[in-house]
Amino acid sequence: MEVEKEIKKLTLGHEVGSGAPCLKCKDKCEGFELHFWRKVCRNCKCGLEDHDVQTGSAEDKKVGKLLEDTKYTTLIAKLKTDGVPQYRRNMVTLTNAVPAKKDVDIKSVTYEWAPPVANQSLAMRYIEMLPKEKQPVVGTEGAAYRKKQMAKQLPEHDQDPSKCHELSPNEVKQMQQYVKKYKEEALGVGDVALPEEMEAQAGEKGPREAGDRSTTTSAGAMGAKRAPRKGAAYSCHRCQLDMREGDPAVYAERAGYDKLWHPACFVCSTCTELLVDMIYFWKNNQLYCGRHYGDSEKPRCGGCDELIFSNEYTQAEGQNWHLKHFCCFDCDCVLAGETYVMVNEKPVCRPCYMKSHAARCNGCQNAVEPEAQRVTYGSFNWHAEPECFQCSCCSKCLVGQRFMAVEGMLFCSVECKKKTMS
Ligand SMILES: [Zn+2]
Ligand SMILES: [Zn+2]
Ligand SMILES: [Zn+2]
Ligand SMILES: [Zn+2]
Ligand SMILES: [Zn+2]
Ligand SMILES: [Zn+2]
Ligand SMILES: [Zn+2]
Ligand SMILES: [Zn+2]
Repeated sequence: MEVEKEIKKLTLGHEVGSGAPCLKCKDKCEGFELHFWRKVCRNCKCGLEDHDVQTGSAEDKKVGKLLEDTKYTTLIAKLKTDGVPQYRRNMVTLTNAVPAKKDVDIKSVTYEWAPPVANQSLAMRYIEMLPKEKQPVVGTEGAAYRKKQMAKQLPEHDQDPSKCHELSPNEVKQMQQYVKKYKEEALGVGDVALPEEMEAQAGEKGPREAGDRSTTTSAGAMGAKRAPRKGAAYSCHRCQLDMREGDPAVYAERAGYDKLWHPACFVCSTCTELLVDMIYFWKNNQLYCGRHYGDSEKPRCGGCDELIFSNEYTQAEGQNWHLKHFCCFDCDCVLAGETYVMVNEKPVCRPCYMKSHAARCNGCQNAVEPEAQRVTYGSFNWHAEPECFQCSCCSKCLVGQRFMAVEGMLFCSVECKKKTMS
């Protein structure tokens, strides 16, 4: 029994989504297989979120852990069995009975997530105000968008040291402090409300705690009682355009209740994606998603995608890397001191480059070495050598000469072209 339990734990921990087909690469990927330290598929190099995996419950655990020890504990529930906090995501199904000729045609729509507000029509209006392709309706493009943003914006390895690869005890400590700090200073979940009602509420209660904590620009804004303004008197903090009367706005407590956003404008200031489930990080008067807040605080490793908590790391190709993670993206060999080639912004060692990525010389049909002089014309490549870059008719060397190219064939003159082509 004990052994069986252990095995189950291992499979759960390491093989989430194992074997799932890649939605991007289709047949080219044999199925998801997690790389042992990168956060991607070993077969196709895409992320788990690009594979056809039901990540719902893993996500709910992730968000549950993110919101643990914050003021948003009403959004999580601890499981009685193992005490693991789990996100109580507000899934909503609306059923609409439409009388048809014979039967009653029942149409129902399920939202993967909707704002957890008491007034459901407000929540639905919020969703309507999002672009159609981002509305989280089950089984649509919008649900896929939400899933992808959930993976991208809130990396599990930004909040949980156990999801990182071989951290030293000191790195674990640093990371725990970092997580504690953002939970205290930056993390929040947006509110959806009608501006008129929000202001009336604030007027009754007087300045909120958040008003005191926020920056000087908003100081005092909550203090004075004011007559409620019409919708048009409120403008969005991002686009500066007015709110339409009767439309809900998104509020962020960390920003202060004097600021509000159109639902579609509640986005990360770096990636400009809709903040997934309105989970935001507030810093320097700006909204960030979890990933980009992390990037603003710490260097991120281009190899494993983790934030770097060690003082020792390297910079190359405009990115940061754990010393042990500046490796070939294909075979994982360490590249320090070796020749490498950047392929799609990822370093690849010379042998792997020659095997899988190098252009073929149209003359000798061999791969063109990364350091070789080459001639590129359209989609064709040649070694810039007399043996390769020569007239297809008379074999005259064309390096540094005028030439004509026809479907990958080279000619020194009209005469040679005529002789060959006729
Ligand atoms: Zn794959
Ligand atoms: Zn793929
Ligand atoms: Zn706006
Ligand atoms: Zn972002
Ligand atoms: Zn790394
Ligand atoms: Zn390699
Ligand atoms: Zn050649
Ligand atoms: Zn010729």
